[in-house]
Amino acid sequence: MNYRHAFHAGNHADVLKHIALLALCDALTAKPAPLFALDTHAGRGLYALDGNSAQRTGEAEGGIGRLLAEAPKQPLIGRYLAAVRACRQEHGAAAYPGSPWLLAHALRADDRIAACELQPEEAAQLKHVFARDERVAAHQRDGYAAMKALLPPRIGATRYNRGLVLIDPPFEAQLAEFDTALGALREALGRWPQGTYVLWYPIKRRRALQPFYRRAATLPAKSVLTAELLVRADDSPLRMNGSGLLVLNPPWHFDQQMQALLPALARTLGESADAAGALQWLKQAE
Ligand code: SAM
Repeated sequence: MNYRHAFHAGNHADVLKHIALLALCDALTAKPAPLFALDTHAGRGLYALDGNSAQRTGEAEGGIGRLLAEAPKQPLIGRYLAAVRACRQEHGAAAYPGSPWLLAHALRADDRIAACELQPEEAAQLKHVFARDERVAAHQRDGYAAMKALLPPRIGATRYNRGLVLIDPPFEAQLAEFDTALGALREALGRWPQGTYVLWYPIKRRRALQPFYRRAATLPAKSVLTAELLVRADDSPLRMNGSGLLVLNPPWHFDQQMQALLPALARTLGESADAAGALQWLKQAE
């Protein structure tokens, strides 16, 4: 396990994923029932963009850096930038929030969050970040095993009917990770069918993802969509040219919100004229 998210925090892929995560939280908290959120691959919770790792790659410049500089007038982007600014007020001008921080920021007092991280130093930092937030349980454990153990969610006497699972693996072993994630989703849907699930995935060549789309369309969810952002042409298998989110059981209107967001993101974060955003339904509710 060599992957460290500090090298990539705040890049175009984080931006897409974190904007969508906040939009999902806001849609789900529109109803009063308490929510359960599971972040299976949580990372360390908070990042320092002036640290060595982030500075070495400079990836954040092409992501959050550009969005802050251009601040496009788009509701989901405005919401995300406000969350990043809130994080910076608390943790300093170079801070960048990880997914569990954003969940804790967007969710309410009665909601609960389980954040899992396998790498020991990252997990120790994750536990430190949330030590004083009793809504958040930070675990050093395998996120896929946690899906089996924690779904359907029940804490004490409370059963959670509604909520969100974010699966954000490092994709170190590309093809195997797609298999593992799809298997985990199929299994979890069997036990918690009403949950909203999000899987982040990298895009090198989109064409190579066809088998993944076909398999995702057969998952036993009511509805399945992908939201993708390419920052340049997907003609090289050697680099990450973009990324996507597979969203199962998205809330009402999430697709329309993302349809409005993706062109603005492609304009702001695109690195060539081939930059593009696209939303695709793989399965629609009847
Ligand atoms: N979700 C985070 C965010 O948006 O801020 C970033 C997560 S990063 C892409 C993936 C993380 O998963 C890494 O910190 C890595 O150490 C961790 N990891 C790798 N395999 C794991 C597993 N099987 N279970 C839990 N965490 C894992």
